[in-house]
Amino acid sequence: MGEHVDGNSLAGPLSELFAVDLTMASARCLGCGDVSELARAMVYPDPTGYVVRCSQCDDVLMVVVQEPDSVCIELRGMAWLKVPR
Ligand SMILES: [Zn+2]
Repeated sequence: MGEHVDGNSLAGPLSELFAVDLTMASARCLGCGDVSELARAMVYPDPTGYVVRCSQCDDVLMVVVQEPDSVCIELRGMAWLKVPR
């Protein structure tokens, strides 16, 4: 695994899908049960998008794939994602 950045780097790509800033959302990791703001996650950019890992157990929380005509988010590493209103 290469260098990672923090979850704040997801603000741009996720703004294409959601009207709110999801970096302030809380997520529960399925691997360890940790509940943290998405901004605290470890984000590994790659040429196709981002792999987002739990800052506590390193399990994959989500994968964001950016294609020319779409953005796809896979969320299977989260028990839930809570978005503040
Ligand atoms: Zn975890």
